[in-house]
Amino acid sequence: MAAYDYETHIYDVVVVGAGGSGLRATLGMAEQGLRTACVTKVFPTRSHTVAAQGGIAASLGNMGPDSWQWHMYDTVKGSDWLGDTDAMEYLAREAPKAVYELEHYGVPFSRTEEGRIYQRPFGGHTTEYGEGPPVQRTCAAADRTGHAILHTLYGQSLKHNAEFYIEYFAIDLIMENGRCTGVLAWKLDDGTMHVFSAKMVVLATGGYGRAYFSATSAHTCTGDGGGMVARAGLPLQDMEFVQFHPTGIYGSGCLITEGARGEGGYLTNSEGERFMERYAPTYKDLASRDVVSRCMTMEIREGRGVGPDKDHIYLHLNHLPPETLNERLPGISESARIFAGVDLTKEPIPVLPTVHYNMGGIPTNYWGEVLNPQPGNPDAVFPGLMAVGEAGCASVHGANRLGSNSLIDLVVFGRAAAIRAAEIVNPADATPAANKASIDQGLARFDAARHASGAIPTADLRLEMQRTMQSDAAVFRTDKTLAEGVEKMIAVAGKMADIKVTDRSLVWNSDLMETLELQNLMPNALATIVAAEARKESRGAHAHEDYPSRDDVNWRVHSLAHVDGASVSLSSRPVHLEPLTTEAQGGIDMKKIAPKARVY
Ligand SMILES: Cc1cc2nc3c(=O)[nH]c(=O)nc-3n(C[C@H](O)[C@H](O)[C@H](O)COP(=O)(O)OP(=O)(O)OC[C@H]3O[C@@H](n4cnc5c(N)ncnc54)[C@H](O)[C@@H]3O)c2cc1C
Repeated sequence: MAAYDYETHIYDVVVVGAGGSGLRATLGMAEQGLRTACVTKVFPTRSHTVAAQGGIAASLGNMGPDSWQWHMYDTVKGSDWLGDTDAMEYLAREAPKAVYELEHYGVPFSRTEEGRIYQRPFGGHTTEYGEGPPVQRTCAAADRTGHAILHTLYGQSLKHNAEFYIEYFAIDLIMENGRCTGVLAWKLDDGTMHVFSAKMVVLATGGYGRAYFSATSAHTCTGDGGGMVARAGLPLQDMEFVQFHPTGIYGSGCLITEGARGEGGYLTNSEGERFMERYAPTYKDLASRDVVSRCMTMEIREGRGVGPDKDHIYLHLNHLPPETLNERLPGISESARIFAGVDLTKEPIPVLPTVHYNMGGIPTNYWGEVLNPQPGNPDAVFPGLMAVGEAGCASVHGANRLGSNSLIDLVVFGRAAAIRAAEIVNPADATPAANKASIDQGLARFDAARHASGAIPTADLRLEMQRTMQSDAAVFRTDKTLAEGVEKMIAVAGKMADIKVTDRSLVWNSDLMETLELQNLMPNALATIVAAEARKESRGAHAHEDYPSRDDVNWRVHSLAHVDGASVSLSSRPVHLEPLTTEAQGGIDMKKIAPKARVY
């Protein structure tokens, strides 16, 4: 192995990732006096959170009655009863506080006539425990909410003297004696190596949408946190649950926010029929995402798709007043023009369900502490490590996430991680020295990738993985497609040993970086398809044609996947059924959230 020198940096906390969750955690930790570093492979405001359009859910009740209990009910139902009850209560309860904090930090929300934060309807968000009309709960800054939040949080983090290491690629966690003590990183612009030693490492590395061929997420969403955790011998949770967003632009996969339907948009098939009225008579086009994606796929499979190949669906906004489109949805007007060549004031947009969000991830409790379940203690905390945002799985989204519940997850749990870190990290304690053996292991893996001289270019193998996932772990799944998919994915993962990297340099070596990213995508993809094959029921985003019903007796459990190279071993962890507070203490009436059929 080539020799690599490294520089050592010592902090109380190191946060990997500068999206909404990483920045909210960074800001919170720095604010509480912890010496905090934020390491990120892209410039903070280029993180995928910047692309979030529609908004952030919180029961402010600015546009009609709302309550955190209704928000919790909708989240429980949205999760198809797989979310952890305590975490879902924490999310819904803390949401208004977290949004007002954002407002005070300076997020430029859109406003009502009275000057309050503007809120729009979103799929699956209702009143009166699903008995009343849709609620306007999603707080928005036009259709650029993520952009507004990210810029504000970055400014606030700088104000609180958090230190940023920008365009540093985290390679692996540094471990010693069953705890995490830091992270090894490669500085992309000069090729130097860096060891960050800390009392707490927070993974905020986002999702792994790029395991699929067509995804709304950025090309940087490669599940690096999940990859690092898997290599450290820790499990990933509920990976079989992958959300397809109903309205990716046909061809490019670029997202048209659910806010478009929130503002009155609707879907039609080749007969011009508003087919969602047939499937979801009450909430129609605002049923939850898994339901709408499935209905669209059914229409296409039954021959009622639009276009020459009858393989997509139309989204209409052309009936809405141009002023509304201009004021509330300016960004998507531009996307429709650029990516579909459509003037949305005149024509419908061609759309198709597209991979959008990973419900699964690194298991945590609702403080963001990473779990390493043990026999007899399914909630055992792994010391020195936290995970927040899309990389983590708290689990508030269970089998399906409601629109606008991710941005609120980022800030509520980024904030919770900071509160918890301030309790357990003592700045006066010495930072553990970095374990040389663990650093060498990371460097050896890096060096092997740098000098990989096999037969398959990274881009070719990535495409093979993406196509396999797209065709065999899609909206509809069967025993047959999943079994074939598992076999193919094991073969694809096996080919990692034959990868070919042509550029051996250390400076701006995108070939090498993409290879490291593929080494991270692979365990995420494998865990997804193997866990999907094992789950013999339909729940949320996991729609299994051979087992069309939800099976609460056998399958109301979180799946756990340990990935080692091309092999995956599965186990499970119970779902938390207990809330944080009883009804007498002001909590939710548990009868309201008892499992039932999920209809919209
Ligand atoms: C197009 C689109 C629109 C969306 N709209 C909404 C919406 O309106 N409402 C909503 O609630 N949700 C929405 N979502 C979902 C939501 O935006 C994401 O789930 C969320 O932004 C993820 O944030 P994050 O902080 O977890 O990670 P990200 O924002 O993805 O950031 C990941 C960070 O990790 C860093 N990183 C990753 N790997 C490494 C590494 N190896 N080394 C160093 N740094 C690393 C990156 O540099 C980056 O800073 C949308 C998603 C998409 C794709």
